[in-house]
Amino acid sequence: MSLRTKALVIIGVALLCMAGLTYVTSRFIFMRGLEEIDERDTGQHVEQALVALSYLISDLEVDTADWASRDDTYTFINDSNDEYIQSNLIDETFITLKINLMLFVHSSGHIVFSKAFDLESEEETPIPQDLLAHLSDNSPLLSRAATHNFISGIISLKQGPVLIASQPILTSKDKGPARGTLIFARYLNSETTNELAQITLYPITVHSISEKAYPDFEEALVSLLQDRPIFVKPLDTEHIGGYALIKDIYGKPGFVLRVEVPRDAYQLGQLTTSYYILTILGVGVLVGAIAMFLIQRQILSRFTNLIRGIDHIATSGDTASRISLEGKDELNLVAGTINGMLAALHEAEEEIREREERYRDLFENATDLIQSVNIDGSFLYVNEAWRKTLGYNEEDISNLSLWDIVHPDYVPKYKEIFQKVVSGEPAGNIETVFITKGGENIIVEGNASCRFKEGEAVSTRGIFHDITERKQAEEQLQLMYQHERDIRQQLEEEIKKRTEFTRALVHELKTPITPVLAATELLLAEIKDERSLKLVQSIDRSAANLNRRIDELMDLIRGETGMLPLNLVSVDVVSLLRDIGHEMIPVALRDGYSLTVDLPSSNPVVSADGDRLRQIVQNLLNNAFKFTPTGGEITLRAREEGDNLIVEIQDTGPGISKADQERLFDPYYRRVEDRERLSGLGLGLALAKTLVELHGGQIWVKSKRGQGSTFGFSLPLETANRKEE
Ligand code: ADP
Repeated sequence: MSLRTKALVIIGVALLCMAGLTYVTSRFIFMRGLEEIDERDTGQHVEQALVALSYLISDLEVDTADWASRDDTYTFINDSNDEYIQSNLIDETFITLKINLMLFVHSSGHIVFSKAFDLESEEETPIPQDLLAHLSDNSPLLSRAATHNFISGIISLKQGPVLIASQPILTSKDKGPARGTLIFARYLNSETTNELAQITLYPITVHSISEKAYPDFEEALVSLLQDRPIFVKPLDTEHIGGYALIKDIYGKPGFVLRVEVPRDAYQLGQLTTSYYILTILGVGVLVGAIAMFLIQRQILSRFTNLIRGIDHIATSGDTASRISLEGKDELNLVAGTINGMLAALHEAEEEIREREERYRDLFENATDLIQSVNIDGSFLYVNEAWRKTLGYNEEDISNLSLWDIVHPDYVPKYKEIFQKVVSGEPAGNIETVFITKGGENIIVEGNASCRFKEGEAVSTRGIFHDITERKQAEEQLQLMYQHERDIRQQLEEEIKKRTEFTRALVHELKTPITPVLAATELLLAEIKDERSLKLVQSIDRSAANLNRRIDELMDLIRGETGMLPLNLVSVDVVSLLRDIGHEMIPVALRDGYSLTVDLPSSNPVVSADGDRLRQIVQNLLNNAFKFTPTGGEITLRAREEGDNLIVEIQDTGPGISKADQERLFDPYYRRVEDRERLSGLGLGLALAKTLVELHGGQIWVKSKRGQGSTFGFSLPLETANRKEE
């Protein structure tokens, strides 16, 4: 029901209540009062009617008395003279006296004269037979004659009530003895009651109680017999009846008199009430219309505007718009509250939108493949990386199932994982294969979890990383590892063979050289002959040289197989180099070289095996002397550079080509031009490199063809143990 209808109903109900209340008030208070007025009024009219009736009886009584106290009547009762009859007891007398019956009863009880007359038809009628019953000897109508008393009242005959008066017949001077009784009677018919009505102004009806009268008379009689003087009862809406009980001449209740009075006050009241209610209804309708107009204009239309505004916002979903409402009342407060709510909603919406954009941006720009899948396997969301990697567009995805993109070989396993995820168990790391739109296999790795709503699994979310390249690289690497393992195995076998061969060779060479060296030593001590001594010295040098080379070979093999032990101690390198320089100067002078020793003033200390360090430097110096023509310049140099000590041996020899430099430190490598010309195995530099590296340093050569060579190596400084010179 609309508010407008409700307002109309409320006004209507209020109006009806007001009219109803007015009606009830008037009916039970106002109308009751008016009814009482009518009843009181009617009672008075009944009393008036009774008075009027008594007047009528009095008139009859007076007329009877007049006629009974006349001398001619006194005479007539005795002699029944005809003259009296002809002159007095004629029809006109009945008409003039308005009586219906005339009875002259002699004191002996003999009826001297009797006549009945119908005043309406003006004709003589028979004497009602039941009247004679009232004329018995002890009838009060006759018994009064002796006492000169009269009696009047009403008696009941068959034809109805009759007003009756009896007087003793006396002389004109009211002297007796009474010769009889004169009785005049008048029917209490409609003519009589009309006469009464002319006095009382209202219709009067009199019924004998023995008659079967109307029901209202019956009801009135019941009430009146209970000693209530007057009974009043509305006859209809327009009339009210007033009733009174009349006794007959015998003093017994004999008649009921009814006066029919118009209900003036009641009707006026009815009319007034009707006008009043109509006025109230009219005024109510007018006031209701005005109230409705004002409610419509001041409340309902504004309410409608408010609802329209809310509707518009609800339909458009535009939470930025506001409701505007004129005026300043509770509706404006409601509008204000709604606007406040809208503002809060808008702000929350903006925040949600921004957050959503942030998340969308995060997901869309993620390099991982992100997917959200419904429980039935259809896709809810996939990010751009997913679409790009798998090559499906939005339309494809809407018709796609998860099981379409998982490689058939992986579907059983993935379904198992999917079931786990949906039942809330952790999926762990998932590695599977997706198929692109183009049929390509993409190996992915990732994890998945499930989103629950009110305990029900609604969708799953998965984040996967394309590991195809990594997997391929891993496979490649595995192949390479395998290849490398094979080569290393081959190499190790080669080295093992070579080492075993070299060991055997060293053993074979050492076995004969040891007695040669011992023999040459004895010979050198014993031979005095100059020429023989020179030969023995040459043998000794060659044997010692050969022994050294065998040792080098042995050291190299030990170094390569990791079996060359170093006796590391803190070594004062500058002192060591200085000693070597001093030892080499006589050799240089003898062979025509200039040797320059350039050492730092500080005393850098390195952790090294002194003998091996000496072996490295001597090896490099020997090469410098060996490959530099006589007259050349050789320099032994050392310096600190950062955390390292750098040692360099520079010569002015032939220099070394780039190609040779690259392979110079390989075992057994020698420059082509030196291979035939000079003795050597090509092991010195290889051994020097091994030894330097065992000390944690590096070795290098800097050279240009024709511009000499500089061999250098570095050793990490033991800075903590450095001591001042
Ligand atoms: P060996 O001297 O016994 O042949 P090395 O390993 O000491 O073996 O030297 C390898 C080769 O390097 C030499 O044969 C030579 O050709 C070249 N070489 C070494 N030192 C020099 C140098 N100072 N100047 C020119 N060539 C050199």
